[in-house]
Amino acid sequence: MRRVSVLGATGSIGQNTLDLIARAPDDYDVVALTGASNIAQLATDAVALKAEVAVTAREDLLDDLRDALAGSGVTAAAGAQAITEAASRPADWVMSAIVGAAGLAPGLAVAAQGNTTLALANKESLVCAGPLLLETARAAGAKIMPVDSEHSAIYQALIGEDMDAVERIIITASGGAFRDWPLEKLAEATLAEASSHPNWDMGQRITIDSASMFNKAMEIIETREFFGVRPDQIEVIVHPQSMIHALVGFNDGALMAHVGPPDMRHAIGFALHHPARQHLPVERLDLAAIGQLDFRAPDEVRWPALRLARETLERGGMMGAVFNAAKETALDRFIAGDLGFTEMSQVVAQTLDHMNTHCDHIDAKMTLDNVGRVDHLARKAAKAAVVKRAG
Ligand code: NAD
Ligand code: MG
Repeated sequence: MRRVSVLGATGSIGQNTLDLIARAPDDYDVVALTGASNIAQLATDAVALKAEVAVTAREDLLDDLRDALAGSGVTAAAGAQAITEAASRPADWVMSAIVGAAGLAPGLAVAAQGNTTLALANKESLVCAGPLLLETARAAGAKIMPVDSEHSAIYQALIGEDMDAVERIIITASGGAFRDWPLEKLAEATLAEASSHPNWDMGQRITIDSASMFNKAMEIIETREFFGVRPDQIEVIVHPQSMIHALVGFNDGALMAHVGPPDMRHAIGFALHHPARQHLPVERLDLAAIGQLDFRAPDEVRWPALRLARETLERGGMMGAVFNAAKETALDRFIAGDLGFTEMSQVVAQTLDHMNTHCDHIDAKMTLDNVGRVDHLARKAAKAAVVKRAG
């Protein structure tokens, strides 16, 4: 029996993870499940999978969670601190599928356990504090497995290879909802339009980030942190079918591509069973039926987020935390209806500039507290940039 926990269990990645676990209930002991607002889902899954503890991020919903779990034997808890405590309960494998910077502290708690595997869907923790998370895992002896489809693909293409022979890494992007929109229409894009994805069924925030390419921008930073390659070795290519997830180019000119259906259960299952490969309930591709795969260069006028990610990497220090906090703030304001679609990247650009000129903390030592401080200041600067635009 493997002891497993799922942080962000009620979300899109969390539910796909529970789907795989529920197919082999005798193989797993579920330790902790966490969620936020969807108490009914959290409680139903915690009872069905006989979790030790269920935790909601929302302290105001603790009573609801307690009521829903009454008589089940599952312990209820609430709040950010309780999630981090749940993350530090000994487990063999922990999925980190919380959305946003809120995933950083729990991810660090998992890594600090040592002797465990942190399956990392929460790319924000690598963007905000990659070196801190990786060093915490290394020092404690924990393994981190990528769950983002591109990074799982890169990991798989690198098995048995020498990193010194890697020339470049190419991550693919579907292009999201507005790939083929006329540029002049983008400023008017609505929340509903930005919240639909041509190929992947995902949470709302990452779906909008796919339309703006902020998701791919974060994945450039994620690639740099995870695989230690230089930024100029990382390329993005638009590939509308989302069948090839990433390619690794070697010094003999070979490109190793990872091909598979757009179903996150592949990357989740790979991380769950590694180093073994086990049967997974994903579609088998019929290449003749697919017929052709298309590629095109990414347009940095349409998607300024890609350039902003490269500037962030060039600046270094804790600029990743600024980038993520500014992006999260701009996205919140777009969802709330206070900011236009194309204004999101303008707010992020202004925040990066402002913090670069006015904030020395960016070059402080990377600790959880300092990342939190930079995150806080960047959110303040991003809010000010939003207000300025509205005024
Ligand atoms: P989602 O919105 O569907 O789910 C997010 C989860 O986080 C939910 O369980 C929610 O309750 C929880 N949560 C939200 N706010 C929280 C907070 N403040 N504190 C604690 N928990 C909180 O998101 P998702 O699409 O499943 O994405 C989760 C993570 O995985 C993100 O980092 C995303 O970038 C990454 N990811 C997702 C996909 C995908 O296919 N959905 C693919 C690659 C990477
Ligand atoms: Mg991805």
